[in-house]
Amino acid sequence: MIYTLPPLPYASDALEPQMSQETIDYHYGRHLQTYINNLNDLIIGTPYENMPLESVIMTATGPIFNNAAQVWNHAFFFNMLSPEPKPMPHELKEFIIRDFGSVEEFKVQFKKAALSLFGSGWVWLVQNDEGKLLIIQEPNAGNPMRNGYKPLMTIDVWEHAYYIDYRNRRAEFVDRCWELINWKKVVKRMH
Ligand code: MN
Repeated sequence: MIYTLPPLPYASDALEPQMSQETIDYHYGRHLQTYINNLNDLIIGTPYENMPLESVIMTATGPIFNNAAQVWNHAFFFNMLSPEPKPMPHELKEFIIRDFGSVEEFKVQFKKAALSLFGSGWVWLVQNDEGKLLIIQEPNAGNPMRNGYKPLMTIDVWEHAYYIDYRNRRAEFVDRCWELINWKKVVKRMH
């Protein structure tokens, strides 16, 4: 399988001012493209060559896992953003309130997880087998599917995700990301 850059569901400047065209050009156009190129090179002649991407993530280790997971994580992240506000549907709000107390408290806990993740990684809203919502930190290329969780939403907290627009201000980046999340897509992923 030859992986290619998944199309963005919006123009590269559509997420401004929260996410600049320059960030999209580098983050989507260069970083994601590099993970795709690396993955295509690494899987040649291996059992992963004709495996669906999610199966690669579930079984690979080392560089093949890292690049495959980064391809999946970034495609998921960029696909979930939207230039038009998509408010949280009632059914998701009910689950958030049940499992975190309130939407505000969920955002506080998510931001805390984003800020306390040392180094590079991803913060995820996931659902477990019982349907409970959880906030999960994953370092580096980590993907919660490896631990049996269903990913619902994520924010990339690698420095490359925010350094052009926010420099070292990861907290401000997370705050502004809330304005871009397409909650309709998040709820569609729920069990
Ligand atoms: Mn990234």
